[in-house]
Amino acid sequence: MESLIFDRMESYDYENLFFCQEKTLGLRAIIAIHNTTLGPAAGDIRMWPYESEADAINDVLRLARGMTYKCAACGVSYGGGKCVIIGDPRRDKSEARLRALARFIHRLNGLFITGVDVGTNLDDMVVMRQETPYVVTLPESWGGPGDSSRETAYGVVQGMRACLKEIFGRSDLRDCTVAVQGAGAVGRHTVRYLTEAGALVTIADIDQERAALVAAEFNARAAAPEEIHRLPVDIYSPCALGGILNDRSIPELRCKIVCGSANNQLAEARHGEMLQQRGILYAPDYIVSAGGLLAGLDSLNPGGFNLERARDKVAHLYEAMQNVIAISKEQSLPTHRAADVLAEQRIASVGQAKRLAIAGQMRLS
Ligand code: NAD
Repeated sequence: MESLIFDRMESYDYENLFFCQEKTLGLRAIIAIHNTTLGPAAGDIRMWPYESEADAINDVLRLARGMTYKCAACGVSYGGGKCVIIGDPRRDKSEARLRALARFIHRLNGLFITGVDVGTNLDDMVVMRQETPYVVTLPESWGGPGDSSRETAYGVVQGMRACLKEIFGRSDLRDCTVAVQGAGAVGRHTVRYLTEAGALVTIADIDQERAALVAAEFNARAAAPEEIHRLPVDIYSPCALGGILNDRSIPELRCKIVCGSANNQLAEARHGEMLQQRGILYAPDYIVSAGGLLAGLDSLNPGGFNLERARDKVAHLYEAMQNVIAISKEQSLPTHRAADVLAEQRIASVGQAKRLAIAGQMRLS
């Protein structure tokens, strides 16, 4: 029997793929649940004008699997999922469509917990919250964490501290030199935390005016965007686009550590090996950029979001990065592979414990 979808799902052992359609509203959305061994699937909602259904399916599957690894490696008890809405967010978004999607999510009864991604925003989450409590990234006025970039930046800085400890034997940021690429939401907060801690920061953005503003605000230096990755610094922090660690950029790096929030920084997995061969410690992006996710999930606690508690969880990204470094050294693996091993080990051991518990219950009954 020819199989278009089940074979694709089997390739990385996805649990469910839900197709949500509402003809009168023109809603077409897909929710993928990759793995719920650790708990309900967490993953945000992306709205994008995919050219084909196959593109949308590929994207939702790829991103859901990424969430499984992110949650597992960061030590939270959630699995991996993702939702994509097929459509142009500038043209096709409406209250009715968002609420219809929220009703589908509600039907999953907590199997899928969600928030903001590309093409969606906090206002959309407020709309969806009318239909379901399983939308967790909400504005502060709604008891949520608000803009997640602040906690994301805080997590990135914890990752930097763990890397500094490994390379220089001290996690203190004072006088350490950092080149931040991207003066957007995360980049700006990262510069703030770094300069507050006494680091010497240079920032660049393709929008040079924005970089100059952030530099002036936090007493940092501004550099040209094409120069930033080449600066001789302790840490290069990519906080702009993905794919920036590639055949062209890696030979030009003059840093000892790469640690930033940008998603999918390695153009290809082999670039993780290239960094290792150059003696550069790479902090896997999906670990150190998890602060926003951790803050969103904190909202699920009874009583809602609590900044202090969320901060505490984000601070543990320091240990998560230390664990990655330990596995990398023990198994002689590049850090991006070590992060995967950390996630896979946790899922395997919790899965085994669950199977043993079920077997025990069956014997008792
Ligand atoms: P943003 O859009 O606010 O900022 C990105 C900035 O990068 C913009 O100012 C843009 O002009 C700049 N930029 C783009 N290309 C550049 C280049 N080649 N050189 C220098 N600057 C360039 O985005 P953000 O929310 O700050 O997120 C930054 C990265 O972190 C993204 O890859 C995002 O996916 C990732 N991330 C963000 C969060 C979050 O909480 N916002 C969480 C996890 C991961």
